[in-house]
Amino acid sequence: MVRTRFAPSPTGYLHIGGVRTALFCWLFARRHGGQFLLRIDDTDVQRNVEAALAPILHGFRWLGLDWDEGPEVGGPHAPYFQSQRQHRYQQAVAELLARGAAYRDYATAEELQAEREQAQAEKRPFLYSRRFMAETPADCARFEAQGRQAVVRLKMPREGSLVINDLVRGEVVFEWAREQDHVVQRADGTCLYHLASVVDDYDFQITHVIRAEEHLSNTPRQVFIAQALGYPLPAYAHLPYVAEPGSKNKLSKRKLDKYLKQRDFAQVYEHGLAIARALRLEAAAETFNPVVVDFYEQVGYLPEALLNYLLLLGWSLDDKTEFLTREQMIANFSLERVTRASASFDPKKLWAFQDHYMQQLPLAEKVERMLPYLVRAGLLSRPVKEEDRALLERVVIACGERLKVLGDILNYGDFFFREWPEYDMGAVAKQLGKQRARELLLRFVEGPLETEPFTAEALEQAMQAFVAAEGVKVGDVIHALRVAVTGKTIGPGLYDCLAILGREACRQRIVRAVELAGKPVG
Ligand code: GLU
Repeated sequence: MVRTRFAPSPTGYLHIGGVRTALFCWLFARRHGGQFLLRIDDTDVQRNVEAALAPILHGFRWLGLDWDEGPEVGGPHAPYFQSQRQHRYQQAVAELLARGAAYRDYATAEELQAEREQAQAEKRPFLYSRRFMAETPADCARFEAQGRQAVVRLKMPREGSLVINDLVRGEVVFEWAREQDHVVQRADGTCLYHLASVVDDYDFQITHVIRAEEHLSNTPRQVFIAQALGYPLPAYAHLPYVAEPGSKNKLSKRKLDKYLKQRDFAQVYEHGLAIARALRLEAAAETFNPVVVDFYEQVGYLPEALLNYLLLLGWSLDDKTEFLTREQMIANFSLERVTRASASFDPKKLWAFQDHYMQQLPLAEKVERMLPYLVRAGLLSRPVKEEDRALLERVVIACGERLKVLGDILNYGDFFFREWPEYDMGAVAKQLGKQRARELLLRFVEGPLETEPFTAEALEQAMQAFVAAEGVKVGDVIHALRVAVTGKTIGPGLYDCLAILGREACRQRIVRAVELAGKPVG
């Protein structure tokens, strides 16, 4: 049975590149009717592991990437936390020592550094001389009498080469002479990640190690450990990393400032920021970053859109298919079709996927998924009344394709749910600043606003008659009118807004805006 694993460190956030790797592991397992595991690499984590893991597990759940074994779900090999498996790693180190594949080394950091510098001066690659390697208990006793402490190092081969048939990269050859005698256990007895990873993959019966390309160079030492311990080797697949927009460098959460200088990236961010403000989220939070999965959930991207976009970040079915359902993804996924070159994260393309999935979403579903945003923004309260749900449905229809993400309901439709609009005072000054504009609005209240029935069509007709009678252009009224009833300059069709708000709310808002604009400045 195929078994894959994703092995995050609990960092407190789920990186876009990380989840792309996880998606490929998950798809491969599902494609082959196998199992997908989550293992937690928390040996070097100082902070609260549970808190730092929560957003990662949450992101997996949001995207629908279910795991068969791992934290919270358990499994026959529990615990799946490296920090809880040290005794097992220590056992493996003892075995490596017993088999002569590792040795205790008593060199100090200074002695090693001196060797490294000498190699540099002689312009040859550094390989440790093994001068302080203890081969017998007597050696240990002698070194310890000198006050030295031992680490355990791998006794790596120094000749020949290792060939790996990577499922993405094909044949990869490593020269053993380039490998150091890597440390597997520190002087304090704790074991290092590479050893832990090999032991876990064996104990958890992982058949395919699918991971980011930066781990390719770790593979020889891991193969060495596995072979020394007599473990069967898993198949390896090293995925190209997710690169920055428009570059080949790895996408990094820390480079947000740099990415914000790019137009597409900045647009996605700014758009999200407006929603975050409406939600009163802490926009300065670490995870409010388009490199982090949480960003998309907060702003209201659809998980199916993000998943589909991530799939094509390094994989393709053919040169034209863009949209795949979850079932199609599983049915068609193969490692052979993973690209070898890194794929750049492209916020504009993600936006296009989101747009597609959003427009496909049935009305009732949109309403259902947008409700929580209005609740979180404090514009509706639970339990949501039937009339509010009906209102939201009308608003969603009126907003139409302007709603690109779920949170856009706050960008375009908030004023329907407030007692008073939040007036953009710059727009008020601009559109209602002139006496004549305000007069026209008040006359509009007396005239067209009395129209019966109070529908978008009737209002539009009444407006036409009104501007003809006043001898002005439609443009002289509608912009001011929009600001007066919605508070802003953009939004759904004006007559739809009026009709949905109703006559009385429109009248009150117009009068109020006229008052606001008419106040002497200062
Ligand atoms: N914890 C490692 C990482 O996050 C996992 C490496 C592996 O998959 O072997 O990169």
